[in-house]
Amino acid sequence: MSDEQMLLIRGATSLTLMLKGFDAQFDLRLDELREILRQKDFQIDQFQQHLATVESVYDQLERSSDRNVELYIKTFNTLLAGSGPDVLAPLNRARPLLSDLLNFAEPLASFVSSQNINPDTTDKANLDPLRMRLGNRFKSLVQTLILMGDDRGLLASLVHKLDDDPSWKALDSLASTTIDLLQSRLSKEKKELEGYLGELNAKLSRINKIVAADSVILSEIKEMNVEFNANINLQMIAARAQIDVHHKVDALKSDLLQSLDHITDRLVEYQVSYAMKLDSLQASKVQMNEQIRSLEQDNVVLVTELNKERKLGMLDTLTQLPNRLGFNTRLEEELSRVRRYQHPISVAIIDIDFFKRINDDFGHLVGDKVLRMIAGEMKRVCRDHDFIARYGGEEFILLLPQTELADAYIALEKIRTHVANCPFHFQNKPVPLNISAGVAQRRLDESNDTWINRADVALYHSKHNGRNRVTVEDD
Ligand code: GH3
Ligand code: MG
Ligand code: MG
Repeated sequence: MSDEQMLLIRGATSLTLMLKGFDAQFDLRLDELREILRQKDFQIDQFQQHLATVESVYDQLERSSDRNVELYIKTFNTLLAGSGPDVLAPLNRARPLLSDLLNFAEPLASFVSSQNINPDTTDKANLDPLRMRLGNRFKSLVQTLILMGDDRGLLASLVHKLDDDPSWKALDSLASTTIDLLQSRLSKEKKELEGYLGELNAKLSRINKIVAADSVILSEIKEMNVEFNANINLQMIAARAQIDVHHKVDALKSDLLQSLDHITDRLVEYQVSYAMKLDSLQASKVQMNEQIRSLEQDNVVLVTELNKERKLGMLDTLTQLPNRLGFNTRLEEELSRVRRYQHPISVAIIDIDFFKRINDDFGHLVGDKVLRMIAGEMKRVCRDHDFIARYGGEEFILLLPQTELADAYIALEKIRTHVANCPFHFQNKPVPLNISAGVAQRRLDESNDTWINRADVALYHSKHNGRNRVTVEDD
């Protein structure tokens, strides 16, 4: 065998090793090919024949992986960056509207049912991360809905079902239940709004009537004035005529007195009816004030209610910490200060270590309790001007305004050691609980995503290097 041939055989052998691990069937073919390469009496014909088989298996693999990539792209286009309205936008709004959430839930449901997944195909494994991701998105949708009220606990039970890693089929049925709930909630809200508008209308029409009555009184007063002036004028003309025709002072005096009496009578009549009109104007003013006060009161109730809902929408029901929405709102406020005063600002992502084990060993309810406890403890040791929020699952995010990286690290170390030293007990057994964190200081003109992502990368390093530690990201 020539040196050249030897080199080629070695190269081909290395290639078969490099290609290993994509697919079981492909591996088998590669093994066979390697076997042929290893044979002392290497047969080029046999090699070429096998190479053709390997190539056809590879082509098949490539086609199926192309299909998977296409499916991913299609899916993410539909769900994450669809050309239509951004389906995830409702979850990021300061106050999501039910109709927005419905807009989010409907494409989700139709996507899930259009998938027609066969659990036995190879696609299943590829679609698993997507299914989990959708399940989590779905869960945050339902949690947002819970904040708007969950009178019969129906939504809470949906959350529990979503925690159980539902299959595509289960997701489909959960989605249609959610849509039914949303629709009935929407129609209830619509009825309430209609009721409110009806009342508002009745109050406005009452005010309208009072205003109309007032304008009648005012025009009557005007008429009265005209009539009174005309009357007085007539009396004055008559008096002047008497002065002209009378020569005798006594007769003149008595006629003038009579005229004066007439004028006085008219004046008294005028005063009485003027006072009456004024009284009724005064009464209607009181009525109108009452109506306006009651309208204002309604308005105050409505605004308070809206503010309450808005605040609730930013709170995580389980831990009572702000949620992602609350965090984003606060982040914007802090960043506008940063832009004004050029203060440093850092962020940390905190993740509970091996939390899945808590759920597996003690059940979800205990898991929830642990989440609440750790959240409470972290909040307790956070500095007043820091802002901690639940970022999702068992992850938290901490905003550290006016804090440089080195100080942020010290703050996080304090939180980490505090959690590590907390004596958590379940079923009378001590359960060690730890957190890992990644910290990053914001760079000038860096986007929020890049910044938070750097903290996430640092968190990954903390996990990778053994957990229960804080890593800073500053390269
Ligand atoms: P790691 O140290 O790598 O972070 O391990 P981990 O087990 O904490 O991480 P993993 O991401 O594998 O699992 C997170 C688990 O947290 C899985 C999920 O069921 C659980 N979880 C997320 N949200 C909740 C919740 O609201 N309640 C409960 N009880 N569990 C939750
Ligand atoms: Mg996690
Ligand atoms: Mg974890």
